[in-house]
Amino acid sequence: MSEDCLFCQIVAGKIPADTVLETDRILAFRDINPQAPVHVLVIPKKHIVSAMELGDADGEDLAACFEAAREVARNERLDSGGFRLVTNHGAEAGQSVFHLHFHVLGGRAMGWPPG
Ligand code: 5GP
Ligand code: ZN
Repeated sequence: MSEDCLFCQIVAGKIPADTVLETDRILAFRDINPQAPVHVLVIPKKHIVSAMELGDADGEDLAACFEAAREVARNERLDSGGFRLVTNHGAEAGQSVFHLHFHVLGGRAMGWPPG
């Protein structure tokens, strides 16, 4: 828990979120500024700054994020048509919240390469 971290505040229930899935390790909730018909953020409850900060001790949390992303995709009916699973690190990628999160984006054709 990092006191000044927005997503830690959401995990702690201090800031509301539209939660779609919760386990002991992860939380999945709808993005406040959706970029596609389905835009869900999957986060580990543990405070990890970004993919660059992942270490050996984080393996189960990372696996739980991917398991949750699959479940979100199934629940949102994205698994047959397809979806994008993406994480941003640093300024050039546009990371704006410094707590690891995976965007699950779908419900429309996703352009490639991304902007
Ligand atoms: P990043 O730009 O760091 O990859 O993604 C951060 C995401 O968090 C953005 O898509 C942004 O819309 C979303 N976001 C920022 N603040 C909040 C919030 O308070 N609640 C929710 N649900 N999403 C947020
Ligand atoms: Zn955090």
